Amino acid sequence: MSCKKIGNAIICGPSKEYKVGDPRPETDSYFDINEWAETQIRGGLKETQCPSCNRWKFPQEMSKIIKKEFAVSKTMKSPIYRIKLNICKKCANGE
Ligand SMILES: [Zn+2]
Repeated sequence: MSCKKIGNAIICGPSKEYKVGDPRPETDSYFDINEWAETQIRGGLKETQCPSCNRWKFPQEMSKIIKKEFAVSKTMKSPIYRIKLNICKKCANGE
């Protein structure tokens, strides 16, 4: 986040402009995270839910590591099948 003093007011906003596909900013600044996320959405990127931490992530936050899950149909009549889901980079790094 960057703040500027204009007269007696302090105006805060994102510290930089973000582009589509940029990695998630390493900051706790609401302004930066929000600006970054809105840019990704405007650019047409869709979030997917990480099967490990259940957080919603943009494609550039996902790892190539796949988690295999077994799913069972609700009726229990059809066979168990396996779904492959990518986990996010944070989970892949054990963070
Ligand atoms: Zn995750």
